[in-house]
Amino acid sequence: MEKRDLGLGPTSLLGFGLMRLPVTGGPSEIDKPKAMAMVDEAIAGGVNYFDTAWMYHAGESENFAGEALSRHDRSKWLLADKMPLMSITRKSDVDRIFSEQLRKCRVDYFDFYLLHGIMGNNVGLIDGLGIYENLGRKRERGLIRHLGFSFHDSPAVLERVVSAHDYEFGQLQLNYYDWENQDAAEQYRILAERKIPVMVMEPVQGGTLADPGEEAVGILRAADPEASPASWAFRYAASLPYVQTVLSGMGEMSQLRDNLGTFSPFRPLSDGERRTVSEALTAFRKASRVPCTACRYCMDCPEGVEIPRNLGIYNDYSRMRSLKHPMADLLLKMEYGLLAEPQRAGSCVSCGNCVPLCPQHIDIPHWMGEVARDHRALSMPPAEGPAIGKDRD
Ligand code: SF4
Ligand code: SF4
Repeated sequence: MEKRDLGLGPTSLLGFGLMRLPVTGGPSEIDKPKAMAMVDEAIAGGVNYFDTAWMYHAGESENFAGEALSRHDRSKWLLADKMPLMSITRKSDVDRIFSEQLRKCRVDYFDFYLLHGIMGNNVGLIDGLGIYENLGRKRERGLIRHLGFSFHDSPAVLERVVSAHDYEFGQLQLNYYDWENQDAAEQYRILAERKIPVMVMEPVQGGTLADPGEEAVGILRAADPEASPASWAFRYAASLPYVQTVLSGMGEMSQLRDNLGTFSPFRPLSDGERRTVSEALTAFRKASRVPCTACRYCMDCPEGVEIPRNLGIYNDYSRMRSLKHPMADLLLKMEYGLLAEPQRAGSCVSCGNCVPLCPQHIDIPHWMGEVARDHRALSMPPAEGPAIGKDRD
């Protein structure tokens, strides 16, 4: 297993995210025998970075981490946990949650500790409740070895976050699809310029890049018949020099074994392999609901509409809807909301200038209307109707 040290000590390049463990029923019902066997095999394979959080598996991930990891020598593993900003309303919550996390994880310190899910709407909370300072004091007392954050917002917000405090590392959503589509490239650049190591989350975009569609899979298989589609995505993320570790939320032993193979030893992508990924990405985009390849030939729109971004967001939303993903609506609301007003699909005036420029012959004004309409529908209050139970009273 490849290890990397960017100043935080050596961590395995593959990190084990304890958020999609095998279950026997609901999310809190972790299939312990299966999950423990995976942890044991990961450690035997050289994985030393394990990542849990307060809300993973409805609160059971931390308990599982404590039970599974405490069976192994403490020198064999590093544990990352997170302060759930979304669960904090007062100062005292921070100490209460942190103490509970130590107890659940059966540790007396965390190797890595993150402010979980920083976004524009909670960044004020960090200073308002002195959360960074509180965790900094815990670091001085040896309860935290390295203090960082995980992030879900725009590059502008990320600039604010890293300018406000001296974080030792940042966790970003980064994969070859989001590299352009979700500003991952810009976010990575912001951290790399400051020499802040990056922990990668969602390297296979929630599983999408493990099966990116028939044509894309064919391109990847033609280049290397033995390599799984997921392995390309992991290698893409880990080939970036400021990436410290790449997290994988593994739910099956077969995934773990495939990932161990990818990183033992790790081979960075060659220039030729990068071209292969780029071809696969183009094929993947073509197979999406709107076959936009993000070539940007249609740009610039005279009204300022960010056509490929709107279509990318809409494709993500449509894919998640078809998978009945609970975050689909939130994704559309959030990502569309992050665009400046003129960039949004709703600013399209249907002039048609962009249509003949598109090599995919996409009816761009039509789809701008669809994106704006679906976003509007999500933003409207529910229609007035009989309250549940009203007629029966
Ligand atoms: S049709 Fe809409 S998106 Fe295309 S150039 Fe005109 S305003 Fe811009
Ligand atoms: S030209 Fe067509 S395929 Fe290319 S970015 Fe614009 S809409 Fe997408």
